[in-house]
Amino acid sequence: MSASSHQIRRTFLDFFASRGHEVVPSAPIVPQNDPTLMFVNAGMVPFKDVFTGKDRRAYTRAASSQKCIRISGKHNDLENVGVTARHHTFFEMLGNFSFGDYFKEEAITSAWELLTKVYGVPKERLVVTVFKGENNFPADEEAASIWRKVTGFGDDRILRLGMADNFWSMGDTGPCGPCSEIHFFTGDEVDLARFGEEPRLDGSGWTEIWNLVFMQYDRAEKDAPVTSLPAPSIDTGMGLERISFVLQGVTSNYDTDLLRPLVERAAEIAGKKYGASLAPDDVSMRVIADHARTTAFLVAEGVMPEKQRREYVLRRVMRRAIRHGYRLGIEKPFLHEVALLVVDRMGDVYPELRDRRELIARVTEDEEVRFRATLKRGMKILDERFEEMREKGDKALSAPAAADLYTTYGFPLDLTQVICGEQGFAVDLEGAEKIVKGADEADGPIDPTAAVDPAYRQAREKLGSPVTFTGYEREAGESEVVV
Ligand code: ATP
Ligand code: MG
Ligand code: MG
Ligand code: MG
Repeated sequence: MSASSHQIRRTFLDFFASRGHEVVPSAPIVPQNDPTLMFVNAGMVPFKDVFTGKDRRAYTRAASSQKCIRISGKHNDLENVGVTARHHTFFEMLGNFSFGDYFKEEAITSAWELLTKVYGVPKERLVVTVFKGENNFPADEEAASIWRKVTGFGDDRILRLGMADNFWSMGDTGPCGPCSEIHFFTGDEVDLARFGEEPRLDGSGWTEIWNLVFMQYDRAEKDAPVTSLPAPSIDTGMGLERISFVLQGVTSNYDTDLLRPLVERAAEIAGKKYGASLAPDDVSMRVIADHARTTAFLVAEGVMPEKQRREYVLRRVMRRAIRHGYRLGIEKPFLHEVALLVVDRMGDVYPELRDRRELIARVTEDEEVRFRATLKRGMKILDERFEEMREKGDKALSAPAAADLYTTYGFPLDLTQVICGEQGFAVDLEGAEKIVKGADEADGPIDPTAAVDPAYRQAREKLGSPVTFTGYEREAGESEVVV
C-alpha cells in the first residue's frame, strides 16, 4: 500500500522539523496583509516580510504546507485545469524556508535526501535544472557543482535553463535569484539525449515537482542594478498533489487519493465512467473535482460567490464547475455533494472545512440553483436565436442580442461565446462588451453590498471573523472566462 497524501505531508513536515525547522500552519488563502494579491499563490507569501527583513520571527528556518490558489495575475492556471495532469486552481504547496540561515548546499542536500532516501523516489527518474545565465546574471555554477556532488549526476541530468524557468523575483524590487527545479519522469524510458542544447521539459513525460529558489540578490529600485544580499535566503515549493502522484505510482494528480475520489463522485452523479483520457467528459469530471476543492476552501474562509473581485472569481469557478456538470447531463444541483466530500476527506487536516460544513453546503447549492435557472432561461433564448439565424443564414450572433442576454438575464457573455462556438456560430463579443459596459456605467458604480444575496450576508455575519479585502484591482491580462 503506497503512502497516503496525509502521510506524505506529515513526512515532509517531520523531516524538516528534525532539521531545526519551525513547522508553521498554513496561512489563510485570503492574504492577511497584502492588498496587491488576490490569493496566496505560493508557500513563501505569508513570509514575504520576513524575507525582506520588515518582519522578524523567533526562528530562522520554517516549513509549511500552504493552501494556494492560482487563478489570477501572474499565476493563472485556470485554463490548464483538467487538461494537464498537473495543474489545479487550489493546491497545497509544501515548502521549507531559510531566512538568512542556510543556503544552497543545505537546501539541495535536504531536498535530495528527502526525495530519494525518505520518500524513495528512484533517481533514474529525476533530472534537475540550474540557471544558465542570462540578462547579465551569471550562470549558477555553484548550484550545478553542489548538485553534481550531492546526486552524482553528470551534466546530462543537470540541465541549464534561462530566465523564464530558472530565475525568480518577488516583484520589480526586492529579493531575487536563480532557482533549481527537480523534474520527475512518468514515461516508459528516460531519453536524456533528447534534451540537447535547449532542453524543454514541458509535456514530454517530465513533470516539475519541486522548485528551490536561491534568493541571493536584492534590487532597491525598479530597473536598478542588483546588489548581493548580505544574508541569502531559501524558498522552496513542492506541490503535494504532484509528489503524491509520484509516490502513489500513478501518472496524474487526478489519480491520487486527493483528487480521484472527487472525480469518481462526479462520475457517479453523472452516471458515467471516468476513463482518465482527454475526452471532454473526463476533462469535465476533473474540472469539477478541482473546482469543488477551491469552492470548499474559499467558502470555509468566508468568501461568498458575489459580484466583486475575489468573490467574483469564486462565483466564476463555481459556475464553471456547474456548467461542466450540465455538459455531463447532470440535471439537478450536485456541486455541493462534491464539495462535501472535500470536507469529509480534508476536514481532519483543515478543521475550518468541518466548522463551516453547513455553510459550504448551503452556499454551493444556492448558487447552483440560481445559476441553473439562469442557464435554463439563457439556453432557451439562445436556441430561439439560433433557429432564427439558421433561417436567415446569419453566421454570427449580434452584439445587442448577446448583451441583452447578459443585462436582462444575467447570462454571462463568455458562456454565450462558448455555446455559440459549439453550435457553429460566431458572436460579436467586443460589441457586446461595449454595450454591457455602457449599461453598467449608466447604472452607476456597483455597490458591493447591494450585490450580496441577503442569505450570504447573514451567513457572513454569523462567521464571526469576516475576511475583509480592500484595494485589489484586476491585474493586467486576467481573463473573465466563466466556462
Ligand atoms: P509549472 O511549470 O508546472 O506550471 P511552476 O513553475 O509554475 O509549475 P512554481 O511556481 O515553481 O510552479 O511552484 C512550486 C511548485 O508548486 C511546483 O514545482 C509544483 O510542484 C507546484 N505547483 C505549481 N503550480 C501548481 C498548480 N497549478 N497546481 C498544482 N501544483 C502546482
Ligand atoms: Mg506554472
Ligand atoms: Mg515551472
Ligand atoms: Mg517552478
